[in-house]
Amino acid sequence: MSTPRIAIVGAGPGGLMLARLLHLSGMQSTVFEREEGPLVRSQGGTLDLHEDSGLMAVRRAGLEVEFLRIARYDDQGSRLLDKSGRVLFEEPDASAGDRPEVDRTALRAMLLASLPADGVQWGCALREVRPLDDGRWNLVFVNGEAGPFDLVVGADGAWSRVRPLLSPYKPQYSGLTFIEFGIDDVDCRHPAVAQLVGRGKLDVQGDGKLVIAQRNGHAHIRGYAIFRVPADWAAKRFDFASPAAVRSALLAEFAGYGDAITDLFRASNDQFVARPIYALPVGHCWAGRRGLTLLGDAAHVMSPFGGEGVNAAMRDAAELAALLAEKEKDWGGAVALYEMQMFERVAGIAEGSAEAAAVQMSHIGEALTLEHLRQHRAAAA
Ligand SMILES: Cc1cc2nc3c(=O)[nH]c(=O)nc-3n(C[C@H](O)[C@H](O)[C@H](O)COP(=O)(O)OP(=O)(O)OC[C@H]3O[C@@H](n4cnc5c(N)ncnc54)[C@H](O)[C@@H]3O)c2cc1C
Repeated sequence: MSTPRIAIVGAGPGGLMLARLLHLSGMQSTVFEREEGPLVRSQGGTLDLHEDSGLMAVRRAGLEVEFLRIARYDDQGSRLLDKSGRVLFEEPDASAGDRPEVDRTALRAMLLASLPADGVQWGCALREVRPLDDGRWNLVFVNGEAGPFDLVVGADGAWSRVRPLLSPYKPQYSGLTFIEFGIDDVDCRHPAVAQLVGRGKLDVQGDGKLVIAQRNGHAHIRGYAIFRVPADWAAKRFDFASPAAVRSALLAEFAGYGDAITDLFRASNDQFVARPIYALPVGHCWAGRRGLTLLGDAAHVMSPFGGEGVNAAMRDAAELAALLAEKEKDWGGAVALYEMQMFERVAGIAEGSAEAAAVQMSHIGEALTLEHLRQHRAAAA
């Protein structure tokens, strides 16, 4: 069997990591991405990479030096406050951990720089994957077609266009909606807010709601106001055409919270976005189909509370690339083994992430979160 012609759909962290690792093993692949270029959209907030997944993939990709240039080891702090602003928990040293933060845009830029110039085809929004008579696959985009490919890897996120060929499941609404907000130039313009958030992540819980605010690079804070509500609630409750109206609706929703906390909304810029949270069932899997597979969110989008999604995606890429390189002559067997191992590895992670959401949005308030944080600290000690 010859080397497969590989297409990767999606230039997220999972797809780009796979392309980089295949490139290192001398296997050609092409990434097809619907965005028109690397910088047309902000790639989102900060991520923490974990030792046995995200960081392991970075090492295998030979990008440790490049990663150290963009990693923020001193932003690993964690604070839990009640709604009055009382500190319930605080990590004593924000730089002591082994889960460095990195901005998504910087991570994408690092991975892109590690690929050949024509490694990513931009502006290619996949519409469908079409089977050919000889067992291979063509990719049909909104604006054209590419192929044939022996192996198509769907790394195209939660709403994957590759997944329907493998699995009938769609992500289900988790019951939680995030309203995202951002604060620019926080150290100069809002020093009290900068101090409140600290060097890392701030959680404030009360009244069955949650505010998370997290320091990103370039003195930016990204935050989420989190509600347990029906999926269409945010569109009815907030007028996103008017940032001022969103801001005052958020202030009304958090009326029982201390002023120091609601200052997060007063200080925010005008970019409010509703993010209803969807997840695939824990233990999602499929029967193998020759020439198709999935990785990352396309395979197992999960609650973001565990902070595992990007790490799982990068570990998927590392495992798939290693098996493809190892079983050079049997790429079909490599994909089958990757899927079997990935299903087993990710089920526990997805379960933990779902549980983390239940803990942080529990009906009995912040007590469970506090217990969880203390256990986490004891385990790390
Ligand atoms: C609010 C929120 C906060 C989060 N916070 C964290 C966190 O702190 N830590 C963490 O680990 N994870 C977090 N996650 C999860 C994390 O974002 C994902 O798990 C991670 O990005 C998955 O990577 P991926 O490469 O599989 O998919 P994605 O990052 O979704 O990338 C998919 C790529 O495919 C492209 N694409 C999509 N459809 C098509 C198409 N039809 N044709 C071509 N290209 C397409 C997209 O444009 C994108 O570039 C969070 C998620 C949310 C919603």
